[in-house]
Amino acid sequence: MASDPTDNDLLESSSSSSVIPPTTLKVILIQFNDVKWDQFWDGSQWQPYTYKHKKAAFDSMLASLGIYYVRNGDGAEVFGSFKDYFWENSRHTYSPTVTILNSTDANGYPVWVNLPNNKSTYNMYNIISAADNAASNPPYNLDISTDTYVKLCYIYAGHYYDPINVFADKVKVYKMVVPERWRPCDRTKIVDERVDDRRTHIGWFCHEFGHLMGADHSHPSVTRWDLMRSGHKNGTEEANRPASMNPWFLFKSSWADTIQLNNDLPDADLVYNTSPTLPSTYYVRKTPIAMNNSLLKIRSLLILRISLCHLLWSFLPKAEGFLSGAFVVKV
Ligand SMILES: [Zn+2]
Repeated sequence: MASDPTDNDLLESSSSSSVIPPTTLKVILIQFNDVKWDQFWDGSQWQPYTYKHKKAAFDSMLASLGIYYVRNGDGAEVFGSFKDYFWENSRHTYSPTVTILNSTDANGYPVWVNLPNNKSTYNMYNIISAADNAASNPPYNLDISTDTYVKLCYIYAGHYYDPINVFADKVKVYKMVVPERWRPCDRTKIVDERVDDRRTHIGWFCHEFGHLMGADHSHPSVTRWDLMRSGHKNGTEEANRPASMNPWFLFKSSWADTIQLNNDLPDADLVYNTSPTLPSTYYVRKTPIAMNNSLLKIRSLLILRISLCHLLWSFLPKAEGFLSGAFVVKV
């Protein structure tokens, strides 16, 4: 039984209103005058990166299905691809096309789009227009068009850089920006490239893509339990094993069945599982109840507290210890 659509829940009370899963995510790799895919300028000389990423490495991370548990490129531990994430969360019904638009050189490396200036001249307010301009003009002539169903991701060369950040420009928009490389860093440094920086993990891509689908950040108290709060950072390395989507997101995507709970239900020891081989049942509470719980004072979802693993990759060997499911917070 679906919930009453006129009754707002926690996430709809923010700027989230609906979810539209895109059919396509186009990806364009961009680099800078002083930070490129294979080396960076340290102020006195070029420093070559230890790990250089072929197009196949980006393809397997973003566009593969069911095979991304050994990472090519830098050997970091992984638990599934960007596409695996949505495939599992949708109970095997949603699989967007992910296409890297850059051409590939004779050795299998993507030909990155050059931005004209140094990395430190860019920020989150000018990076998209600069990237649009460079990618859509000669010699690249890439198709940067977007619409409701076709979105665009720019991956910028080198390490996370605070002024550019990682972001989708707003909720339910068309373009997102993610750095190529990631490590816990000193954000006070202007440019903090290191030769052994490794490739960014999928959680950042999944979270920003969630914004492109129409989800805003969930309630702060959700912390690491939800992709759309801070759950995308979970993992053995930051963001390699993101939390599942919250029930609102799944419900709005038609990826979860919901049952309305009565107001007087004292506890809800419910179980859900993202595995397609087990039932996926989410319970959405739409009426506030008198309890000392900030989530429930707001007309809210029944927020799920997920066990240590955060996300169930049932078909991957790494998930063996985590198949017992996830647990609903006692309310
Ligand atoms: Zn966000």
